[in-house]
Amino acid sequence: MTTSPSSDALRAWFLGPRAENAELLERLLTEALRDHVFWRRNFHPEDGLTIREMDKRREGYDQAVATLTQELMGLLAELKRGVPFFSGRYKGHMAFEQTIASQVGYFAAMLYNPNNVAIEASPVTTRLELEVGSQLARMMGYDPERSWGHLTSGGTVANFEALWVARNVIYFPLAARGAADELGVELEVECPGGKRGRLGELDLWELVNIHPSHAMDLWDALWQAAPRKDVQAALHRHSLQTLGYQEYIARLDRAFGDPLPPSVVLVAATAHYSWEKIVRALGIGSNQLVFVPVDSHYRMDPDALWEKIRELSDRRVPILACISVCGTTEESAVDRLDRVLEVRERARKELGVSFHVHSDACYGGYAAAVTWDGEGNRRSAEAIRRSVNGDGPADPVRQGWPSQEWVRSMEALAGADSVTIDPHKLGYIPYPAGAIVFRDRRVRELVAIDPPYLLPTQGLGSSEDLFLGRFVFEGSKPGAAAAAVWLSHKVLPLDERGYGYLVERTVAGARKLYTTLSELDADPFRLILLPEPDINIVCFLVTHPSLKTLSEVNRLNEGIYARMSLSVPGAQPRYIITRTRFQTPMYDGAVDPVLERLGVGSVEDWKAGGTEGLVVLRSTVMDPFLADPDTPDHATGLARTLLEEAALALGEAKEPPA
Ligand SMILES: *Cc1c(COP(=O)(O)O)cnc(C)c1O
Repeated sequence: MTTSPSSDALRAWFLGPRAENAELLERLLTEALRDHVFWRRNFHPEDGLTIREMDKRREGYDQAVATLTQELMGLLAELKRGVPFFSGRYKGHMAFEQTIASQVGYFAAMLYNPNNVAIEASPVTTRLELEVGSQLARMMGYDPERSWGHLTSGGTVANFEALWVARNVIYFPLAARGAADELGVELEVECPGGKRGRLGELDLWELVNIHPSHAMDLWDALWQAAPRKDVQAALHRHSLQTLGYQEYIARLDRAFGDPLPPSVVLVAATAHYSWEKIVRALGIGSNQLVFVPVDSHYRMDPDALWEKIRELSDRRVPILACISVCGTTEESAVDRLDRVLEVRERARKELGVSFHVHSDACYGGYAAAVTWDGEGNRRSAEAIRRSVNGDGPADPVRQGWPSQEWVRSMEALAGADSVTIDPHKLGYIPYPAGAIVFRDRRVRELVAIDPPYLLPTQGLGSSEDLFLGRFVFEGSKPGAAAAAVWLSHKVLPLDERGYGYLVERTVAGARKLYTTLSELDADPFRLILLPEPDINIVCFLVTHPSLKTLSEVNRLNEGIYARMSLSVPGAQPRYIITRTRFQTPMYDGAVDPVLERLGVGSVEDWKAGGTEGLVVLRSTVMDPFLADPDTPDHATGLARTLLEEAALALGEAKEPPA
C-alpha cells in the first residue's frame, strides 16, 4: 500500500492494539514524571526534606507500602475486566483508545493537579484551555477574535450551557426593555422583520423574536447608555436569571397583559437524550421539547422544520432554540445545517420569528477537520474523496463520501450560534473532555457571575478572561484535561494532516464494513443494511424467512446483541457491537423503507407496537486501522461472527406455537 506522512504518523499516534508502542509511551511517561520530580526538588531546596530515608526504614512505612502495592495489584487485576476499546474487535459505542499525546499530556499535568476554575489555581492550563477553545472555534469556521470556547466535563454539560445561554439571549430584550424604562434611556434595536425600531415600542412577541446577534447589539447599547452599576442593578431587577420563571411570567402578564404560551425548544428527532434532561433542569419542561421529524437518512427534515415553525408562529409560541445534530449518536447522521439556517432566515423574513441555532456536534464535530487543508483553506468534496479512496480501485460505496451536501453541512457550522464538540469522542482524548464554542463571545456575559473571593485582582495584569468559573456552568475542573486536548491538537492538527486524516480513515473503515456486510452471503439469513452512514456508524439488522412478526425479528436481533456485547456478565464475545431501538414517533420518517424490506408489517403496525420499536444493531467504527489491508480483516471477522451468532439466536426468537 502507498504511504504518506499522515499514514506513517498514524502508527505513532496510539499505543496500538498489541501495545506495539509501549516503549514510546513508557519513555514519555517517565520523562513527564522525572521532570515533575525536578520541579519539586528545585522548589525552595532550602526547606529540606520532610520524608527522610530513615523514615522509610520503619515498620509502619513498610506496611503502608505493602498495602499500597497489594491493593494496586488487586485493582490492576480488576481493571482487566474492562472493555477492550483498543481492539479491532471492539465495534460498539463511540469509544476507542486515546492518542498517546493526550495520555501523556493528561498524566504530565495531573501531577500538578491544576484546577481550571480560575487562573490562580491553573496559571498554565487555563491558557491551554482557552487556546484549545479557539482552535475548536476556528475548526467550526468561527472568527477566533469574536468567538469564545472552553472545555467542559462532557457533552451533556456543554449542551446544557448552550441552552442556558440561548434562553438568556432570547429573553434578554425583555429584560433590556424593563431596565431601559427604569433608567429612562431610549434604545434602538433591529426588529425581526429587518427594520430598526424603538425598544420601548415593541410588543412582547417582537421582543422574544429578536435575532440573537441583534439582541447582543442591544446588550452593548444598554451598557453604553448609563453608568455600569446602574445598568447592572436594573438588569438584575428584570432578568429571568434573578427572578425565576414564576415571578418572571407573572410580571410579563402584568406588564403586557399578554402571557405568551410557554417557549419551546426544537430538536431533531434523533437528538441525544441529554436534551430531555436539560429542558427539565432549566425549568423549560420536557413538554416544551418539540421533535422535528427526520428523513430516511436520519437527518432533520428542513421542510418539516419550516412547517413546525409556521405552526408555532400561528399560535404565537416563542422558540428559544433549534437543536440540529452533527453526527447523531445512533447513526452518525449529519443534519443539513445549511438548510436549517436557511429556514431560520426565511422565518425571520416571512414570519418575523427568530431563535438560537445550536449544532450538537458532540460526536461529529471533529469530522469538520476533514474540510480543512494544512494551510487553513477549505477542501472541496472532490479533494476529500480522492484522499479517502486513495489510489486503489474505489468501490461504489466508498467513492460516494463525502457528498457536496455533506461538505456544505460542515461549512454551515460557521453559521450556528453555538456548537458542542466532545474531544472524548472523535478527539480520542481521555474522559472528561467536552467542549462548547459560541460564535459571538459577548453571550457569555449573559451567564456571568461574580463571586467575591474569585474576582480577578484589578490592575495586576490579570484579565477577567482567565477566570473561567465566572462564565461557565462548572466550577472546579481538571486542567489535566486541557493539557491532554492541547497536546493532542499539537500532534494531530485539526485539518487533513491530523484529525482530518484520522476521521477519514474511520470513514473508510466504516465503508469497508458496510461493503463487507452488503456483499455477505447471509443465506439462510437476510442482512438488512440501513442507509450508508454520514460518518462512521454502520447500522443493520438480521432477519430469517421463518420470522413472521416484528417482535420475532426484534428478538433475533436482541439475541445477537446479547451474544456480541458485554451486556451479559462474564460474556467473552469475539466481536463487540451495540444496539439501539428506533421508536415512534421520532423515527416515523426513517423506518418505512426498513419495514418494507423486513416484510413484517407497515409503519402503522409499527406505531401500534408502541415502545417496542425496532431493534437495530449498530457498530461504531472509530478504529482507523480497519480499512488498512495490512491489518487483520476485522470486517470479515465481524460479518462471519454475526451469522454464527444469528444461527444460535434464531431458536429463541420464534414465537412459541400457540
Ligand atoms: C455523546 C453525545 C452527547 C452527550 O455527551 P456526554 O459527553 O456523554 O455527556 C450529546 N449529544 C450527542 C450527539 C452525543 O453523541
